[in-house]
Amino acid sequence: MRKSFLLDLLFPVKCLACGQEGAWLCESCFRKLKFGAPETKHRLIVPELTAIFIAGDYDDPLLSELIKKFKYNFLTGPGKVLGRFLILFWQGQLSANRNLAVAEKFLLLAVPLSKKRRRWRGFNQAEILAQELAESFSYPLGQELKRIGHQKPQAELSEQARLANVRDAFVWTGASLAGQTILLIDDVVTTGATLNEAAKALKAAGAAAVYGLVLAKG
Ligand SMILES: [Zn+2]
Repeated sequence: MRKSFLLDLLFPVKCLACGQEGAWLCESCFRKLKFGAPETKHRLIVPELTAIFIAGDYDDPLLSELIKKFKYNFLTGPGKVLGRFLILFWQGQLSANRNLAVAEKFLLLAVPLSKKRRRWRGFNQAEILAQELAESFSYPLGQELKRIGHQKPQAELSEQARLANVRDAFVWTGASLAGQTILLIDDVVTTGATLNEAAKALKAAGAAAVYGLVLAKG
């Protein structure tokens, strides 16, 4: 965290869209971010998930720019903007879906990185998003979902290879999840293979339902 804090100090922050100084995305540009993804982007094969919620569209250039900055530039500032975007989207889902809001007491989990990648990157972007959400909604945030071994980055693989790459890559190391409803957070979903495998591990530990919530569909 210290490294990113220093970088934020050294390079004055400017709005990615209009260049105004002071924020990664100024208020008026933030309001231009579109919520939701087109229907065609919901066709994922995620049988282990009860439902998946996709907050935005990766084809929105502003959103994808923020996500790239967040992921590859070791800066956590864009994470705050994206966290806020995710929070507003989730608020909308809860108001639109009464069952979700009333019936569910969510345990929040972030899709973990492997130890090696976590060390290399210095942070897990999904974890930062999950922390923002946990604070905003007072959901408990679990840490016991682990990644076993070290898989190749999914982005480097074909769709078919992605499934095999993450197979059995996750394990739940905490107490039984019997009866729990999980809200599983990740930044970008592509095929859904990673989320699906993580959900499989959570269900094996007893989870009653696993919902996926992601920033965007790549
Ligand atoms: Zn702006």
